Amino acid sequence: MNAATATHTRCLVAGGGPAGMMTGYLLARAGIGVTVLEKHADFLRDFRGDTIHPSTMDDLAELGLLEAFLQLPHQEIRYAELEIGGERIRAADFGRLSTRCKFIAFIPQWDFLNFMAGRAKAFPTFKLMMETEAIDVIREGERVAGLVARSPSGRQTLTADLVIAADGRHSTLRQAAGLEVRDLGAPMDVLWFRLPRGPQERGAVLGRFRAGGALIMLDRGDYWQCALIIRKGTADTVRAQGLDAFRDRVAHFVGAAAAQGIASLDDVKLLTVTVDRLETWHRPGLLCIGDAAHAMSPVGGVGINLAIQDAIAAANLLVGPLRRGIPTEDDLRKVQVRRGFPTRATQTFQTIVQNRIVDPVLGSSQEPKLPWLARFVQRYLPVLQGIPAWIVGVGFRPEHVDLAVIDGLAADRR
Ligand SMILES: Cc1cc2nc3c(=O)[nH]c(=O)nc-3n(C[C@H](O)[C@H](O)[C@H](O)COP(=O)(O)OP(=O)(O)OC[C@H]3O[C@@H](n4cnc5c(N)ncnc54)[C@H](O)[C@@H]3O)c2cc1C
Repeated sequence: MNAATATHTRCLVAGGGPAGMMTGYLLARAGIGVTVLEKHADFLRDFRGDTIHPSTMDDLAELGLLEAFLQLPHQEIRYAELEIGGERIRAADFGRLSTRCKFIAFIPQWDFLNFMAGRAKAFPTFKLMMETEAIDVIREGERVAGLVARSPSGRQTLTADLVIAADGRHSTLRQAAGLEVRDLGAPMDVLWFRLPRGPQERGAVLGRFRAGGALIMLDRGDYWQCALIIRKGTADTVRAQGLDAFRDRVAHFVGAAAAQGIASLDDVKLLTVTVDRLETWHRPGLLCIGDAAHAMSPVGGVGINLAIQDAIAAANLLVGPLRRGIPTEDDLRKVQVRRGFPTRATQTFQTIVQNRIVDPVLGSSQEPKLPWLARFVQRYLPVLQGIPAWIVGVGFRPEHVDLAVIDGLAADRR
């Protein structure tokens, strides 16, 4: 492919998820020419994770976007509860955080992505190409110098000074660039469906642990969004057993009457759980961020927050080099150095929960018992409910937008 005849952009971002849209917004705000490619025609998906976390809302406040964001229809989740062996405890209390917003905002992710896209389009250097899929990288010697993309109007070659792969956990680009993936494994998959919610039922996020499985229920106003945790690789068997058997499984957690709310197995979607990370997030000319660099487990529901924090770190660190010219591989390495620790720490927390809590429950025919420590904390030390709230709501090494860099006040000094 002849890169010389291609359309040139300063930065190409593959993937219009949380990582890609936040990167696109920040670079455009910094005056850097940026094009985001999204392979789908819109942001609607069966499931994208619908949480915006307190640390992300702090970042939105720093950008002056929080007030407008909170105008979007959303639910504010102030605590999470667990029911283990019939006993209920408050596991995380977001009210104890020191962030501006002491809650998790539940909002359809397409609303958030449309919001960010709308704000980004206000900047003249921003371009969003929907229905455009990155299918390969192009190289100039060792350096990734752009992308080959496919859209309804055909194939095109796009060159750039920097390519950012934010194309999610099945990243085409990390594979095309030959980056090595370390698989951390997961004992479970998730079946995702809705149950009607009675007007008297209450509960923000509720995890129910019973013999042989767990059900996470997210209060979405007029329905419960449910995630049934099953042993990895058993979804086909569960489906083959039919609707009545599935309702019986769910009835184990919510009772037979509520389980009748599942009308068809067609309404039950499989979400395959993957936890992995790249050994190296970059090649000359290419940087991976978000799930493309580290696919996150659903444990704690923190993947979107990490993806957005990666985008902020990448913009803080790369706007200066992009203003000066082509970022070096050392510039890209600094992003991995900055975000490697929070990624490893979060994945370690997730794999401990997966292996020590989820796996034994999935393999047991005995009702799990509430650990005495959890009961003790609930009764005597509720202040400690702030720790899980912090891990989920803020996370390790939260990022702040470097406005001096992004808005250019310090551009000349860097
Ligand atoms: C079962 C499950 C439940 C989860 N629940 C939560 C939760 O409640 N809260 C939470 O924070 N996290 C949750 N996560 C994790 C979260 O979904 C991810 O970590 C997060 O979405 C990653 O954001 P991203 O922008 O890196 O990637 P993605 O959200 O995957 O976005 C990638 C985007 O790139 C597009 N794309 C892909 N390939 C290409 C290509 N070649 N060219 C152009 N575009 C492309 C995709 O269409 C997509 O829009 C969950 C994960 C799982 C598996």
